[in-house]
Amino acid sequence: MLYFIGAGAGDPELLTIKGKRIIDNSDIIIYTGSLVNKELFTDIKEGAKLINSASLSLDDVLEIIFDSYDKGLSVARVHTGDPAMYGAIREQMVALDKKGIEYEVVPGVSSVFAGAAALKREFTLPGITQTMILTRMAGRTPVPEAESIENLAKIQASMAIFLSIASIEELANKLMTSYPKDTPAAVVYKASWPDQKIIMSTLENIAVEVKNADINKTALVYVGRFLADEFELSKLYDKHFSHEYREAKDARW
Ligand code: SAH
Repeated sequence: MLYFIGAGAGDPELLTIKGKRIIDNSDIIIYTGSLVNKELFTDIKEGAKLINSASLSLDDVLEIIFDSYDKGLSVARVHTGDPAMYGAIREQMVALDKKGIEYEVVPGVSSVFAGAAALKREFTLPGITQTMILTRMAGRTPVPEAESIENLAKIQASMAIFLSIASIEELANKLMTSYPKDTPAAVVYKASWPDQKIIMSTLENIAVEVKNADINKTALVYVGRFLADEFELSKLYDKHFSHEYREAKDARW
């Protein structure tokens, strides 16, 4: 059995209890080097092998997995945040399927949610938007044309953009083809790490502020009116609104 494990955004306490138990019991731990916090590995088994996959190709990683499997060793494949976002896990799964090797995925706290926690914001605000778009801008690797930033911007939903901070100026310009230029925009650098940085600005000014702060990697860009302070109160907690678990009541205050 092989486990794909979401390491969480950075803070080692954001690793799930299940993920921690599996890592601590594994013989071989392969982790995505650049963004996984090494503090996750302080309680691993004696003799467990820690492998940084940063310089390895897909084939190299698969070779280690197959070899370990043949030897009956347990393997944890640790990906940053949640492996379902830009984790490149599917290609590994396909290879495992071919070999008949079973695997399980343990989710993690994606940086997109660690960033929202740092910002103390909710993506889905009543009367503002009920939709969240997670995406990245086309860069060295392309994005399907229908998902261009300009197209997605038309919806004016809450948006989080991964892997694009190095092109922040181009990104902001593309977003401003639909979002008004005074739309709030935020950048969270290294969400949940000790050196986390937050920039709260507008689409018009965010690029300059990011450049001034010298941020060019490991950051998420957030845009949308969810970052501002105007919205309606939720129906869920509205005392005049009944639902399955609560009857409507008259106002007490
Ligand atoms: N699977 C990861 C994303 C991997 S892609 C997740 O769920 O978080 C790598 C990109 O994720 C980075 O370029 C950056 O945009 C974002 N990222 C990863 N960790 C981050 C963090 N701690 N703070 C802000 N952005 C982060």
